[in-house]
Amino acid sequence: MNFQQKNIPFPVDQMKIINSIVHMQALAIAPEREGRRIAFVPTMGFLHEGHASLLREGRKRGDVLVLSIFVNPIQFGVNEDLDSYPRDMERDFKLADECGVDIVFIPTAAEMYPAGFQTGVSVRDITLPLCGASRPGHFDGVATVITKLFNIVRPDVALFGCKDYQQLAVIRRMTADLNLPVEIVGMPIVREADGLAMSSRNSYLSAAQRQSALCLSRAIKRARELFATGERSVAVLERETRAVIEQESAAAIDYVEFRDGAMLHEQEVADSGTLLALAVKIGQIRLIDNTVFGEAF
Ligand code: AMP
Repeated sequence: MNFQQKNIPFPVDQMKIINSIVHMQALAIAPEREGRRIAFVPTMGFLHEGHASLLREGRKRGDVLVLSIFVNPIQFGVNEDLDSYPRDMERDFKLADECGVDIVFIPTAAEMYPAGFQTGVSVRDITLPLCGASRPGHFDGVATVITKLFNIVRPDVALFGCKDYQQLAVIRRMTADLNLPVEIVGMPIVREADGLAMSSRNSYLSAAQRQSALCLSRAIKRARELFATGERSVAVLERETRAVIEQESAAAIDYVEFRDGAMLHEQEVADSGTLLALAVKIGQIRLIDNTVFGEAF
């Protein structure tokens, strides 16, 4: 496939790959002036069907579809997987092309965070529990990079997966609080046939770990069954959910929490709209999954 590396004016037939921030900003201005909508899907690459579902929806919602691929260093902790994060640009370009992407924006960390970079976006309460508690500074990194990407890509609509439920909640809060002129769309979790939530990090799993990782979706299914048969006590639901994961010797629970799906406050009594969020380590690999009672699995 011959992907164009240069910036050319719209309309275009071929997907463009842009590295430079000023080029991306310049490209975004043309559709804005012409009243054409830009749909945007930010990712860290190593794309899978979860990403593709966002891109396909973005294709429907925008005239110009922009995908960003950027493994954002400031959202990784010191002992996390920044250096080993999986990458396969050729495969990503192929999937992006198949999903109708117009522009792939792949900035460098050096250009995103040049020497002297000082500014961060910080969202308060909603970033404190769950992954925010396990990964200090993570959501500041996310909020900062998404703000920068919104200013560079200037989207009308941006699509995010419910797989990263707290991230979506943080971005919704930030977008409202800062009056960012972007519509935020949340998309359902895409799962493998056996229930495992798709994730770029699943590629780290050995065959045996891949089997162990099924305990996350199994635990969620168990909680949903109990909820469906009328169980509302979070103490009971949590005990049963944990028990499913604890049966798996390779699994170590980071958190199992039940919170209201909007503000992420703790709940003692579950209802339709309660979020069950899990983070579980399989060996060294930290996986997350979630469900909202009353919504589809
Ligand atoms: P990432 O590349 O992991 O940063 O993810 C980029 C976007 O894809 C985020 O909005 C994720 O929530 C979303 N995403 C990742 N995995 C899935 C999935 N299994 N289903 C739906 N969306 C997903």
